[in-house]
Amino acid sequence: MSVRVRFAPSPTGYLHAGNVRTALITWLFARSQSGHFLLRIDDTDIERSKPEYEEDIESALMWLGLDWDEKARQRDRTARYQELIEKLKSDGRLYACYETPEELALKRKSLLGRGQPPIYDRAALKLTEGEKAAYEAQGRKPHWRFKLNHTPIEWNDLVRGEVKFDGALLSDPVLIREDGSPLYHLCSVIDDMDYDMTHVVRGEDHVSNTAAHIQMFEALGAAVPHFAHLPMISDKEGGKLSKRLGSMSARDFRDNEKLEPMAIVSLLARLGSADPIMPFTALKPLIDEFDISKFSKGSPKFDMDELLRLNQKIIHETPFEDVNVRLANMGLEDLDEGFWLAVRPNLAKLEDIKDWWQMVNAPVETIVSDPDFIAQAAELLPPEPWNENTWKEWTDQVKDSTGRKGRDLFMPLRQALTGMDHGPELGALLPLLGAEKVQKRLTRHKAAA
Ligand code: GLU
Repeated sequence: MSVRVRFAPSPTGYLHAGNVRTALITWLFARSQSGHFLLRIDDTDIERSKPEYEEDIESALMWLGLDWDEKARQRDRTARYQELIEKLKSDGRLYACYETPEELALKRKSLLGRGQPPIYDRAALKLTEGEKAAYEAQGRKPHWRFKLNHTPIEWNDLVRGEVKFDGALLSDPVLIREDGSPLYHLCSVIDDMDYDMTHVVRGEDHVSNTAAHIQMFEALGAAVPHFAHLPMISDKEGGKLSKRLGSMSARDFRDNEKLEPMAIVSLLARLGSADPIMPFTALKPLIDEFDISKFSKGSPKFDMDELLRLNQKIIHETPFEDVNVRLANMGLEDLDEGFWLAVRPNLAKLEDIKDWWQMVNAPVETIVSDPDFIAQAAELLPPEPWNENTWKEWTDQVKDSTGRKGRDLFMPLRQALTGMDHGPELGALLPLLGAEKVQKRLTRHKAAA
């Protein structure tokens, strides 16, 4: 049977780094198996789900290059959930509970106070019809819990290996709210069943949910999918993700940090796996080499510096035809391949190119500490046309005439031409500047050229 997986974000916030990792690994798993990738919007929380977050999820996935074969929304499936709720009720697997949140909190507190795990005591199972009627008469509406079997629950997790739970040590999960609306657990299991999911890849925060879900699949007569629970990512120091990183979203990476999508993909596709993290400029090799069994259950460390290094390396490998549209959108439509190749080695982010464009094309405040030397060098400028050898020809001449060499020769020229101590290779820069601008910058000391 071919692999069918889903990425199931809740549209209650922007897609954050942890979600991106789950989406990416699930997508790579699907694509590496020629499988089916479903984007499922888990919008059962009507209050907190927002269309803008759903749009953000889609645009982030598209930006990262993660396409989906099918999309579903839980909101559209309420009739189906209702149908199966009726089945579970008539099978005696759902039972009505009338405790208020305060009463439940009190029960938990007293169990914890006695050093016992805060497992729901199933008091509602013992309610007589009369007691239930009395609650209803008070205006209380029931919420509904799934009655777990008190048996061992086991599965072979693709990341965590053998996982064992005891049904008796879990609380019966609430599947239906007081207003009759179904909760995530129920919708997720019904969807996984109806969309024929063969594998469920998600964060390890769902491990204990999975134990309950397995019994729910069984109660619905569905095949139980395979599970892979990915560990949460942590900070470089190994603690939980810091607030800044934890809340860092795909849109932050794109719009604020201005990073390349493939830098994020390169890092997150392999973070926590046995494969080395390397800069990738395309998804294909990552798909070809993907193997979910290479992920370990230890929490991997997310290092922002590593992400920036990958970004830089990816930029340095990016051909002009892959960025020209973006450059034009940045207002640099006149920027040609020659310019790109000249400054590309000096870019950490694509955005940096604006500064170099400015440096070449707009007036700059040059630095001239030795006006005589610069005047002499200006005299020796070769005639146009200029090419990539002009810099060498020129500086050889200047060296012969002035006796300067090394840093004493090059640094004053760089400063006079660019107003900076560092920057792109001057051999590449000189033809971009052109004779007229170079003359001006060399002769108009400390003035705008
Ligand atoms: N909407 C759930 C979440 O974002 C989905 C978990 C799952 O993959 O089942 O945590």
